[in-house]
Order: sequence, then structure tokens, then C-alpha cells
Amino acid sequence: MWSMTRLVNTASCKYASIHWAYSRQEAYNRRQTYTRPAGIRARELMEKYNIVLPRVVESTVCDSPLWLLPLAFFQTDLARFKHCNSQEITHPFQELLSEHNRELVFYTDGSETANGVGSTFYCAGVSHSWSLPAIASVYTAELYAIWQALRYCEHYNVPSFLICSDSLSSIQALQDAYSTDPLAKMILALLRVLSKKGQQSTLMWILGHPGIADNEAADEAARVAAEEPEPDGIPVRPSDVKCHVSACVRREWHRVWSGLTTKLNAVKDSPRKWTTPLSIKRREQVVITRLRIGHTNLTLTGGNQLVCEGCQQPLTVKHLLEDRIVHRRLRRQFEIEGGIKRILRNDECAIKDLLFFLYTAGLFNCIRI
Ligand SMILES: [Zn+2]
Repeated sequence: MWSMTRLVNTASCKYASIHWAYSRQEAYNRRQTYTRPAGIRARELMEKYNIVLPRVVESTVCDSPLWLLPLAFFQTDLARFKHCNSQEITHPFQELLSEHNRELVFYTDGSETANGVGSTFYCAGVSHSWSLPAIASVYTAELYAIWQALRYCEHYNVPSFLICSDSLSSIQALQDAYSTDPLAKMILALLRVLSKKGQQSTLMWILGHPGIADNEAADEAARVAAEEPEPDGIPVRPSDVKCHVSACVRREWHRVWSGLTTKLNAVKDSPRKWTTPLSIKRREQVVITRLRIGHTNLTLTGGNQLVCEGCQQPLTVKHLLEDRIVHRRLRRQFEIEGGIKRILRNDECAIKDLLFFLYTAGLFNCIRI
């Protein structure tokens, strides 16, 4: 995973060793017993699972000391109206807006649809939009819109401006001068440049839909940009790549898992890890796991399936927990019903009911091998 996210930074000398290793893949192929470096294995996996990654925002180093320069003014007073409706927030918002009536006002927004991700800033009746790669998060789109608004202010030398964003997490991330996020660092660097030039910047959080026409226009423009069939080749944040690769790997695991025919597949739908509740003792965990994988002392001996004494059917875990006539009354008492998938599900109450049943039926000590 680490190598995959670094592979997309082809221009970065920091990850040169990964690319150097890949250039020697042939040599490694000739000597199969050599352990191939992570870079080669990651590339092979990406090719195998058809994972195509876009460019990633490069991490930069700020050339001025972070503590010396004033940054922007962050206005998050409206956050206390976060759970109010749009009517309740309109008046306080208009009041705050009137305090900035000499400033150029920008509305930024990011949007995600089933087809892609869009990023927009809206200013003086004109919207400027970009279509981001589909793997980008809305958070990336929100930050990108703020960065583009700042670039606009730098280009046109806007003396003072107000950027309104409905992404509280973006505004909060930018309040951290020591942020390690590459896109946040780019924005902070630009804010420092503007601050040095005497341009005054204010970033304000607003509610998603405060009933303001300009903000609605930004929202609509971002949605339209998200529907663009061809993204604009904008780099994404490394964490977006990480999420995308994780999703691809999980999808592949799921595909392999659904093709298996093990006993555990009948109980568990996905390869996602099940955590055992803390209240279950270690010995009890072992017994529950044995039942789920179908390997118990009670049902198998020397790898051979035992036969149920009552009905002469193969004594599987399924038969033990669902059908055995001798335990019918106890099963009803402890609600051990609804099929093996339900009986062995990963739920604290279900596990405890099952353990009570096993203890009462005298089966508990017979299950563990
Ligand atoms: Zn039976």
C-alpha cells in the first residue's frame, strides 16, 4: 500500500529507490528466489488488478518560518448554528457579511456525484470550475476550490477578500499552521505570500445551503463539473490514493472470498475482520472459532466426519446447532434458531446465548480439540 501511493510520485527523488528497483525488474525475474522489493511487488499488483492512479499533490517545504508571518483571519462563529435550519442562520450570516462589505466575496464548494468530483469558486457572478479525478474526496475538492480562489486573488491583486466555504473540516485544517497535508500546505504557503504582499484574507465557514443565491450557484456549478466526462488532470491528495487502493484491495479480497466454499463462508459474508467482544473469555473465543470454521472435537475425529447417534446423519456443526432432536428444547430456550449464519454471527448477545446453550447442553468441553 505504501509503495503504491509513492509510485504515483514519479517525479519525486524521495521515492527514487522504488523506481530504481522497478527498472531492474528483469534481473529479479531471472532470479525467482530473490525477494523482490516493495516497489516491484506494488507495481505488479497494480497491473494485475488494473489500478490506475492519477497524479498526487507533492509535499512542499515552506521557505519562511511558520511562526513569523500572520496568516488569514478564520471566521467560524456560525459553527454554533451548525444544527440549525437555513432560515435561522440567514440573519447572522447576513450580519457577518455586512462586516465584510468592502471585500470581494468568494463562495467555494466541492461536490461528488456517481460520475466524478467537481470543485468550484463563485465570485462576482462568475463561477470557475474544475473536474477532479473520480478518486478524489469532497474534502480535496473543497480545499482545491479555496486554493484556486486564493490564486485568483494573487493574480488580480485583490486587496482584501472573504472566502466562504461550507467545509468546516477544511477551515479547521487550515487553522493548523503546521499541517502536514500537501494541499493544505500549498494553501498556507499561498496565504503567507498574500499576507506578505499586504492582501487581507478572511476564510469563513457557512452552512451548506443557507439560502443565498451565490452559494447555491457555486453548489450547482460544482455539481455540473462533477458530471464532466473528462477530468482536468488535477493532482489528488495522497490520502485519496490510499483510500482508493484500500477499496480496490478490499474489492479483490471480497471477490476471492465469495468464490471460496469453506465452512466459514457459510457464516461470514466478507473477509472483514471480526473482533471478539471483550467480555468473552479466551477459551470461549476458541470454542466459537472452532464452531465457525467447522473443526470441532465433537464432529470430526482424525479428519473424518462423525455420525449423529440420534438420526445417523453426518454430525456437522450445522446439524449440531440446527437439527439435533435431543437439544430441541434447549435451542428454543436459548433462542439458538434461524440458521447457522444467524446462530454464529458476531454479536455479543448471540455469542453469549450460544455459550449458555453449549454449557447447559454439556457440549462446551467437547468442542475444543
Ligand atoms: Zn441428528
